Amino acid sequence: MATIIDGKRISQEIREEIKAETAAFAQENGYLPGLAVIIVGENPASQVYVRNKKKACEEVGFYSRVYELPEDTKQEDLNALVDQLNADEQIHGILVQLPLPKHLDENEVLLRIDPGKDVDAFHPYNVGKIMIGDYSFLPCTPAGVMALLERTGVDIAGKKCVVIGRSNIVGKPMAMLLLHANGTVTLCHSRTKDLAAETRQADILVVAIGKADFVTADMVKEGAVVIDVGMNRRADGKLTGDVDFASVEPVASAITPVPGGVGPMTITMLLKNTLTAARMKN
Ligand code: NAP
Repeated sequence: MATIIDGKRISQEIREEIKAETAAFAQENGYLPGLAVIIVGENPASQVYVRNKKKACEEVGFYSRVYELPEDTKQEDLNALVDQLNADEQIHGILVQLPLPKHLDENEVLLRIDPGKDVDAFHPYNVGKIMIGDYSFLPCTPAGVMALLERTGVDIAGKKCVVIGRSNIVGKPMAMLLLHANGTVTLCHSRTKDLAAETRQADILVVAIGKADFVTADMVKEGAVVIDVGMNRRADGKLTGDVDFASVEPVASAITPVPGGVGPMTITMLLKNTLTAARMKN
């Protein structure tokens, strides 16, 4: 029987720590860490994410603002808001909820955010810093995975780590963080030949592809630690991961469930980055 890595519990534990650190920070400095979230249009999933981010800020005692802009917002108006927030003393973290409506240029907006306030760590400056291992902010989802591994007592050094998925927000930074933690890392993608032969080598397997129940028991080495980043909606509306939990759990030594694994960690890491940004201002 595998250990079920309880992302909800670990996330709550870290949020309690952030709350205590925030209270101490406010007492010492006389102001609160501040996060601004910009949402453009009415994408229902984005609205849920933004509401959850605001709620999480309140929970740990941050100052927060949400800017809800209409669907037909012009690029120059969005850029002007980012400029205004870059100069705003009360705001230490700026997050633009993606995806933006099609007529807006995401890259242009992300490049405009002051790298010192880029709590999503999407700016090329912060991406570059992750490459050299000298970072202030880490992208929230891979940082959440690292925290789960650390708090479960998984030693990464010298282990064979396989990541499936090479997106800029999950797979690539994930591989880099495992490498910095002295794992021996293989990064797989849709052109990988004989994927199962690669994944069967993994002591630590991280899956981030966006395909429901894709990784099955025959792709997993006995005793591996399996981290499922995937979030897929089944036809019946239920959330499921990229790993076929029922078949893989008996083979793994530890595994994250979906929901309740990596998911809860992402916003928690955003809070952590915002506190770091407020500290950097000092
Ligand atoms: P993405 O940008 O769509 O990237 C998917 C990656 O998976 C690509 O690199 C793709 O390879 C690879 N891939 C697709 N099919 C494959 C296959 N059959 N075999 C091997 N590799 C394959 O996705 P993403 O943004 O990284 O997200 C991945 C999953 O994580 C999604 O389910 C998403 O919802 C979830 N997610 C969860 C959180 C969270 O908070 N828990 C946060 C972010 C994302 P190519 O590059 O060759 O196309």
